[in-house]
Amino acid sequence: MAKKELDWGALPFAYVKTDYRYVSRWRDGGWDEGGLVTDHRVSIEEGATALHYGQQCFEGLKAFSRADGSIQLFRPDRNAARMAATARRLIMPEVPEEKFIEACLEVVRANADWVPPHGSGASFYLRPYLIGVGDNLGVRPAPEYRFSVFGCPVGPYFKGGFRPFNFVTSSYDRAAPRGTGAVKVGGNYAASLLPHEEARHQGFADCVYLDPSTHTKIEEAGAANFFAVTRGGEVVTPLSPSILPSITKYSLLEVARERLGLRTVERDILVDRLDELAEAGACGTAAVITPIGGISHGGRLHVFHSETEVGPVTRRLYETLVGIQNGDLEAPSGWIRLAR
Ligand SMILES: *Cc1c(COP(=O)(O)O)cnc(C)c1O
Repeated sequence: MAKKELDWGALPFAYVKTDYRYVSRWRDGGWDEGGLVTDHRVSIEEGATALHYGQQCFEGLKAFSRADGSIQLFRPDRNAARMAATARRLIMPEVPEEKFIEACLEVVRANADWVPPHGSGASFYLRPYLIGVGDNLGVRPAPEYRFSVFGCPVGPYFKGGFRPFNFVTSSYDRAAPRGTGAVKVGGNYAASLLPHEEARHQGFADCVYLDPSTHTKIEEAGAANFFAVTRGGEVVTPLSPSILPSITKYSLLEVARERLGLRTVERDILVDRLDELAEAGACGTAAVITPIGGISHGGRLHVFHSETEVGPVTRRLYETLVGIQNGDLEAPSGWIRLAR
């Protein structure tokens, strides 16, 4: 086995067809054994609920090469738990935690040649998904389900490196107050495509969603969670039932408390009180952290630390978490699952 010949340091965040993916099917009340397949296409029934009624969900997590050549998954148990919570919300069968993690490990091991080397800045992104399949017509939970995991080598989400981007508040909502905002379903993303495109057209990296009930509080930053550092040095992040609980966000909060000795708090962040914040960022698996230079709201750009320089706390949070993910810094207990 030899590593694929890719320009590891210049990989985009884009789909690459790797050699193996995992597939398992649920029917008659249980999951089959599941296993690796080479076909990257999916053949499902035309009436599948995933195609018509949005009964589907996904996850995203990464595997990293350590300096000694071993490969580690970052917190796959958290993704397994979140997919199970999403499955319950959409009345889909849960994928047991060990089945979920084993599927990810199998895909990483089978595609080890595609896992970017240590020090390249790139990683191997895993995309588990669960979809309602089988013959169906009316609105009801599917008779059968398909769980699959594929993976691709990816570079950083935003080209141009670790630098701030400007965001703009959106007049759209990505989720309803008591809808599906807190679970990782494709429907939330379908709703976000137009707001995202409009933000891009106006010259922003992405939009900031406000709370869907009052439009006064910050909820999410595009498809990532929002965090900020107050002038008092506290790391704050919004608390709301319609925010998707980001594993990156909760990892950063733990790093902030346990490694950087900072206070952290989840609370409302009013869009009219941005001047209380010294730094801001978006966080999620794809980019880890996207520093936010400024947020445009009501036609006025509010700049945090700087439009060109990353703030000091944001940088330390980023470097510490990336160090843990790459295996250069010791991980908190339970965060790492070795693939090989
Ligand atoms: C997946 C996702 C995130 C980030 O979650 P991570 O677990 O950190 O990758 C944030 N917001 C939304 C809406 C998401 O779908």
